[in-house]
Amino acid sequence: MSTLFPEGTKALVTGASRGIGAAIALGLAEHGCDVALNYRSNAAKAEEVAERIRALGREALLLRADISDEAQVAAMYKELKTTWRSLDVAVLNSGVTADGHLAAMSGAKWQEVIGTNLTGTFYTAREATKQMYASGGAIVFIASTSGIAGRAGQANYAASKGGVISLAKTLSYEVAPRGIRVNVVAPGFIDTDMVKKVPPAQMKEALQAIPMGRMGTPAEVAQAAAFLASPAASYITGKVLTVDGGMIPN
Ligand code: NAP
Repeated sequence: MSTLFPEGTKALVTGASRGIGAAIALGLAEHGCDVALNYRSNAAKAEEVAERIRALGREALLLRADISDEAQVAAMYKELKTTWRSLDVAVLNSGVTADGHLAAMSGAKWQEVIGTNLTGTFYTAREATKQMYASGGAIVFIASTSGIAGRAGQANYAASKGGVISLAKTLSYEVAPRGIRVNVVAPGFIDTDMVKKVPPAQMKEALQAIPMGRMGTPAEVAQAAAFLASPAASYITGKVLTVDGGMIPN
């Protein structure tokens, strides 16, 4: 099979134990990468993904860290550097939801989502950037269409993902001269544990608003992330690619 990446490319995927992150990790491995898998608590699931990557003949490294904790993120990147010495690709995917209308939203619910999706993504992006400074690389952020268009019941989540998009665009200007490309994938509704939390009536309404009439699969997001991270996207930086079945206008 032809691969998108040179043999031995080293990639990190955050939130790689399940859902979109697991599909991205497997997709990168299929396309030639060795993959470090970050997860927060689900060690058994992360190990399953690692086994599938090893079965493809690639290296897999498990890195447990809560990305909302600055010290844990620093320790994770230190371990990565000690083990692999180089980092070529980082896909910053970890994220959570805690939906509710803004008027009734507690400060704790706001902080939980901003703390992981925005502040945690900042910690992981900063450390990835530092590890790529000398030799270049590619960073892909997983945001959301909610971060572009907004979505009722997701003020905290939409604000966090809008923040990720602005962070990514800013970073792309700062690091382009160092050979680091920075892009964003913004998925719409993707069939993972995260959307299982959406009430059925809301889900039915959401599906009706998707021109393609269905949810996306984690593998469909993974293909977009792999492309943006790969040398095939060598002149693309600072861009947002929506993977949403045509749901929001560009
Ligand atoms: P998911 O199935 O709920 O998986 C979330 C992943 O993130 C898990 O691997 C989880 O690890 C990890 N994670 C959560 N909090 C973390 C933390 N504090 N530190 C480290 N890892 C953490 O979610 P998903 O649907 O695959 O979503 C992945 C990304 O895509 C998220 O950023 C999400 O916002 C975004 N997205 C999803 C959709 C969708 O419709 N599914 C749409 C747009 C955007 P554990 O397994 O250890 O808990």
